Amino acid sequence: MDLNKKNIIKTLEKITFSGEADNIVSSGVLQNVQVFGDQVDIGLLVSNPALQARKRLEVDIMKIIHSDIYEKAKIKITCEVQKKVKNPDSDNSDNSESSDVNISSEAKKILGVDSIIAISSAKGGVGKSTLTVNLAASLAKKGCKVGILDADIYGPSVPTMMDVEGYVPKAVKINDVSKIEPAESYGVKIMSIGFFTKLDQAVVWRGPMASKALNQMIFDTNWGDLDFLFLDLPPGTGDIHLSLVQALPINGAIIVSTPQNVALADARRGIKMFQQDSISVPILGLIENMAYFQAEESDEKNYIFGEAGVKYLSKDLNIEFLGEVPIYKSLREASDFGRPASLQESTDVSKVFDNISKSVVEQLLKRNKDLPPTKVVEITNLVGCSAIKK
Ligand code: ADP
Repeated sequence: MDLNKKNIIKTLEKITFSGEADNIVSSGVLQNVQVFGDQVDIGLLVSNPALQARKRLEVDIMKIIHSDIYEKAKIKITCEVQKKVKNPDSDNSDNSESSDVNISSEAKKILGVDSIIAISSAKGGVGKSTLTVNLAASLAKKGCKVGILDADIYGPSVPTMMDVEGYVPKAVKINDVSKIEPAESYGVKIMSIGFFTKLDQAVVWRGPMASKALNQMIFDTNWGDLDFLFLDLPPGTGDIHLSLVQALPINGAIIVSTPQNVALADARRGIKMFQQDSISVPILGLIENMAYFQAEESDEKNYIFGEAGVKYLSKDLNIEFLGEVPIYKSLREASDFGRPASLQESTDVSKVFDNISKSVVEQLLKRNKDLPPTKVVEITNLVGCSAIKK
């Protein structure tokens, strides 16, 4: 058997931990598996604090991986004892938005998902969702396993852009655990807050309600194995996405802005939010959207929203510039039609997204290499994903 994440998870389903009725995978004891060559990092979260029980579990895990998969595997196990878990039914809640999301003080990891990338813009309407779906589709085209969580509670547009409007999420049983089946389109798995509301229904998601719904969508969706999970965050720097980014081990954030001054001021605010101590999500880079408009058969570029503002901002803040997307009528049309323009064959638009997705993966790999191993989920097993082949 090959030493990879899938085989390890399957093998560890044979082990139970004292005090848990289910095996360590379905009971959530197994939180994280990373494979780097012959090195395996395993993260456990247990409720039984007895040292003996933990040691026994670690030995069982090592033994079964050595006997069933690869006898020379170098296994490192980190075992965390679950701290006090908030009772969701208790009425001593302070009603703050974050209290619903921070189930444990540690960021939870989503089993099977390698890298979580948040796409953010402090200002609405700058093209955050457009870039999310096109980057996701561009990476799926290259063989990567990609998912999108559309967390834009103010206007979930991913279902329209990916042609899955009206999808009704169904419950499925995975290893006896109830999960929600995501929609799938163009090879991308999609879960959207829009699936739970009717398009013409004016739903005002209240903060705690939205946080709770998003938390469930993240952890209860049957994502399967993903190389990348993109989070299309709501615009702004509100409490909802503060709590969201604190609850998740986000590998990096991408900030989208147009080059105009008002958008840039907001972008600075958004960057500060990710960089503040309590959040500390690395910024993978900035993307300038609606960089200019060039009419067909014309050489002249019209810098409708100002020239190169995001490029200057990235220099000023010493943050990577991931690329620029001009204003394309075909990009808007493709979004409205429900087929991301990045899926087109060798058009100007698709080339732009091919380049930006390549930069995103490069920055992600660089970032994962520089980070201490325990901090975030790292990329592993991207065998079929040509985007990262050197
Ligand atoms: P946000 O998610 O930031 O609110 P959207 O992605 O929904 O913004 O984009 C707003 C509108 O602008 C959409 O109609 C979209 O099709 C269009 N749009 C975004 N970027 C571009 C672009 N580069 N060229 C043309 N239209 C664009």
